[in-house]
This record gives sequence, C-alpha cells and structure tokens, in this order.
Amino acid sequence: MYIDTHCHLSKNDYENIETVIENAKENNVSYLIISGCDKENIKESIEIANKHDNIYLALGYHPSEVKTTTDLDLLELKEIIKNNNKVVAVGEIGLDYHWDKDNKEEQKTLFKKQLDLAKELNLPVVIHSRDAFQDTFDILKESKNFGVIHCFSGNLDNAKMYLSIGFYLGIGGVLTFKNTNLKETVKEIPLDRILLETDSPYLAPTPHRGEQNEPKYIPLIAEELATCKGVEISEIEEVTTENAHKIFTLRSANKID
Ligand SMILES: [Zn+2]
Repeated sequence: MYIDTHCHLSKNDYENIETVIENAKENNVSYLIISGCDKENIKESIEIANKHDNIYLALGYHPSEVKTTTDLDLLELKEIIKNNNKVVAVGEIGLDYHWDKDNKEEQKTLFKKQLDLAKELNLPVVIHSRDAFQDTFDILKESKNFGVIHCFSGNLDNAKMYLSIGFYLGIGGVLTFKNTNLKETVKEIPLDRILLETDSPYLAPTPHRGEQNEPKYIPLIAEELATCKGVEISEIEEVTTENAHKIFTLRSANKID
C-alpha cells in the first residue's frame, strides 16, 4: 500500500471528493495527507479528515497567503493543531518567488514564524519552495526543523544540500514528464530519503498530464521511480511507505504495522 504524502482536497477542485478518496483506496493508495494552506481550505480539510480514518492533515499558511495572514491567525492555527491529533505536519509553508518577488522579507518572516510553531509542537514541516532555493536552504539550515521538501524538482546539488540537513524529498508527477532532469537526479538520491506525493489537483503524471490530478495516480509515479532506480516497484512501495511513517506519526485505530 502507498501513502500520498501531499495532496489537496477541496470542493472547488473536485465535483465529488468522496469519489476521489474511493479511487485512491481502489488503487492501493491507502493513506492521504491532505494539506490545508489557506484559511478556508484549512477548515475544509479538517472536516474531511474528521470523516475519514485514513486521511491526515498538514496545516499551515502557504507563502501566497502572506498578505492576509496575521499573528492572530497563527495563534489560532496553533490551537487547532494542538486539539486535533490528525494533524501530522505544519505545511505547506515556505517561499515562492515565482509569483511574488516584491514581498520576500514578509514571506521569510511568515515562514520563520511557522517553522518556530512546528518546533514548538514537535511536528515535521512540509516545505514549498519555488525559485527560492538559496533562501529556503539558508533558513532551514539555521532553524533545524525536520521534514520534507514537497514537490522537489531542483538539481542534484540542491538535493544533496537538503539531504545534508536531514530533509526528505517529496517526488511527484514531474518525475514522469518527458524532458525532466529529475529522472537523473533521483538516481543519486537514496531511496530511504524519498517520499511519494501527487500534489493533486495539480501536476498530474504522464499519461494524464494536463488533466486534473488525483491521489490514485501515486502508482504511476512509483513505477517511474522504479525504472529510474532499476528496482522492483514493490521495493519502492515498501520503502517510501516506511519513510512516510518515519516522518509522520499516522495515529489511527487501524494503523498498519
Ligand atoms: Zn501542495
């Protein structure tokens, strides 16, 4: 069985969320960690996780929320997390200089506050970093949090640097795209530091590229990773699931051994 360690579920994206969850189960994707990263979606994600034993939460404010996120919001987030044992991480949080270049300092401040929150709550962090490698790395190196670089698509040097400070790398649909250097990069990343994720509804893997993504496509990413690494897909399944359990505490009545 697989775990989709990073995806988003919202009525704004899916006609029927229950179907998406069923489809995942039918395709051997037994657990989902859904990320709520704006005010509305945090609430929505909690409601979904409350209804489903196999769904866990990563909650935090995405860098795109920097203009509207207040200190009071962060205090509320802390209370929400403390009172919900389905929350297994703070995220996705980080830096995005692709869309927003004019507020780098504000982004860094929000990022650091949430890194502190994760440390206080002793939770891993799920990191979003786009066109912002150096600043992300410098901040993480200094802060000494632990967690995963979600949707990693950087070069081998970037990968090695993140690994050197103990981070895991989340690998998603980009790996299946035709002209990506990621195929070469993952060959050099130890399998015991890789997590599988879809980032649904974005970044659907080949042959569904451009369509709406779903957690059910995790096996397609696993298959590509098996090819890159020259190992059986069963090894990918086993090791990446083990890795997810090492980072995230998936407390559940029917927890898998
Ligand atoms: Zn995401």
